[in-house]
Amino acid sequence: MGKRRKRIRIDRILICLVFLVALIFLIRFIIYIIFGFKVLGEAKKGNTIKLYHDNANVWKKTVKYINENMDEVNIKYKNYTITMDSSYFKRNMNIKPDITTKKINSGEFYKQKGIYIDNNNIMSIATSIKFKLPHYIYKNGYVDLYGITDDGTYVLLESRKKVDKYYTLNVYDNYKDYFVTYVKLDSIKTTQSYTLEEGETKEIKLEFNPSNATNKKVVYTGYDKDIISIENGLIKALKAGKTTIKIKGDDMSIAKVKIVVNKKKEEPKKTEKIEVKSKVTKGEDGIYYIDGIMIVNKSYPLPETYDPGKLLPEFMNAYNEMLADATSDGIKLWIQSGYRSYDYQVGLYDMYVKQDGRAKADTYSARPGYSEHQSGLAADINNPSSSFNGTKEAKWLKENCYKYGFIIRFPEGEEEYTGYKYESWHIRYVGKVISNKIHEAGDISLEHYYDIESKYSN
Ligand SMILES: [Zn+2]
Repeated sequence: MGKRRKRIRIDRILICLVFLVALIFLIRFIIYIIFGFKVLGEAKKGNTIKLYHDNANVWKKTVKYINENMDEVNIKYKNYTITMDSSYFKRNMNIKPDITTKKINSGEFYKQKGIYIDNNNIMSIATSIKFKLPHYIYKNGYVDLYGITDDGTYVLLESRKKVDKYYTLNVYDNYKDYFVTYVKLDSIKTTQSYTLEEGETKEIKLEFNPSNATNKKVVYTGYDKDIISIENGLIKALKAGKTTIKIKGDDMSIAKVKIVVNKKKEEPKKTEKIEVKSKVTKGEDGIYYIDGIMIVNKSYPLPETYDPGKLLPEFMNAYNEMLADATSDGIKLWIQSGYRSYDYQVGLYDMYVKQDGRAKADTYSARPGYSEHQSGLAADINNPSSSFNGTKEAKWLKENCYKYGFIIRFPEGEEEYTGYKYESWHIRYVGKVISNKIHEAGDISLEHYYDIESKYSN
């Protein structure tokens, strides 16, 4: 009797187990049905879809609906929301990026804490990822976004972006991973005094420590507004006298600059004033200069040996300042092509000549030595092609670049002076004093402004 009872018990346990397994499957199936209705319903309303798995565990019907009827789909996971082109949405796709806190000790960073986003190949399908920022980052009110290239270089993509608890990472092409951080500004260094003559304009040069500090916005206070005016970091001397400028950043870093404005010397009056434009001079280094700036065009080449190897710091400082303001205006800018060596230009120009012939190639590509890209003071922004003309980014660049010391080097309608067709994407750093003067002259070309030639001698 005892033995039989035990066997019945085992049978019962087995039945219970089978029943339990069936129940689990049934519950999962019911959840799947309810969940499926919910997801499809949300999709039909155009709402954000919540997925409870890392994989898109949804009905075929839902996938089909999303593919056919939506342009974009927002998928919400526990800690982040991904926005993607709906045509990429399919069943069982893994779209999980790794978002972690990391300390970076590389390049310009010294033990810099931030959020590291490991691409995991989802970036090719996602257009943006929204996630929560930790308090130590968002409390500052601003962040920088860096893209990390295959060789581990950190490229600043968004500068001083205003944020709250949530950050939306807009995906850029060509970056393996991303880093979101806030770098604190420790101090500001500047020339301690400037002497100007009435009517003269000078740029206040600031040095930030660390140079990659996120918030480099400063205010100028304390100076006598009768003696000088300040706009876009340019001091204009109004009247003879002495005053002091206090320069303050958000992180409370203060620098002081003493200003002396002298009376304008009376110039002997001429019967007829002839405007003499500065002439081009050749330095000992074999480089041509005009008005203190380097000049590179079809008449004035750079020596083959001139090789800064990268964009010069004065370019990068001005560019980062411009990037910060572009970011806050919702404008996405990036350097598509910056410094190019002499040898690189040899290959590029040869390729264009083979493709279009020498005469045509000369209208859009520089011969080796004649390219401004070799100077380290020029770059192509976003998209170096005529399709960039007229975009909101091109418009922003055209209207604002002078404030940071840049000019659009080959403006529209200036082809006869520059020898190149209009390039809305090619900017050149000339410093704020000259960029403002050229802006006031109507954003004309350097050649037009200084009355110099740009023609190949052969
Ligand atoms: Zn260019």
